Amino acid sequence: MSFTDRLQNIATDMGADLFAISYVGNAVDPDLVSLPNCITVGVHLSDFLISGIMDGPTYTYFQHYRTVNTLIDQITTRLVIELQRKGYMACAIPASQSVKDRPGDYRGVFPHKTGAVHGGLGWIGRNGLLITEQYGPSVRFGSVLTNAPFEEAVDRSDEMAKLAVKNCGDCFLCKENCPSGAIQGGLWQPGVPRDELVNADTCSTHMTKAYGHIGRGSVCGRCIAVCPFANTKV
Ligand code: SF4
Ligand code: SF4
Repeated sequence: MSFTDRLQNIATDMGADLFAISYVGNAVDPDLVSLPNCITVGVHLSDFLISGIMDGPTYTYFQHYRTVNTLIDQITTRLVIELQRKGYMACAIPASQSVKDRPGDYRGVFPHKTGAVHGGLGWIGRNGLLITEQYGPSVRFGSVLTNAPFEEAVDRSDEMAKLAVKNCGDCFLCKENCPSGAIQGGLWQPGVPRDELVNADTCSTHMTKAYGHIGRGSVCGRCIAVCPFANTKV
């Protein structure tokens, strides 16, 4: 069994539905360039719960969202352990992270969407979310950055840009259904800044005002539920 297969088996056995390896050395901050390859894992959220948040998040959805984040952190930590046992350097990026010491708010030290796009798992939708053909936007992601060499580690962004044109196409459902007006309606292509797609501050302010009673960090999720690629037809 190859080392890649071993890592994928570990992730899958722990609950990952998606797994990809990519080269991200062209997209990380200077302090992370020594870890140019990325392992991305994705966990499919409950379609039943996503179907129930058309009118805003529910307590059960919020708890599910947080629990899946914890599961992802466990998977990526396990992968770091495996990489280190092989003598490589590796760092797990938390599933949900917002740090204040880097430019821009509402960002972690490395965006999981970058690893997912470079790894060919999907494209960035008009809603600023990573959209997969299998589960639409109903997926949470985690990343492991590493210096382990993988022959699969390439950048597939250009292929994913074609999917954005083909699949978001004439659809504006997420923009039309966003209660805060945060979604600008633009079409993603590699290099387009997130803020040109979604105003993160407008989205966050709306969620805090409207759904603060559900819990700190509660997410609206309507732009997930309406996407035609989500499996929300229950
Ligand atoms: S989470 Fe809600 S408010 Fe934020 S962009 Fe999506 S639909 Fe709009
Ligand atoms: S709702 Fe439509 S435009 Fe928005 S991300 Fe999904 S496919 Fe793209």
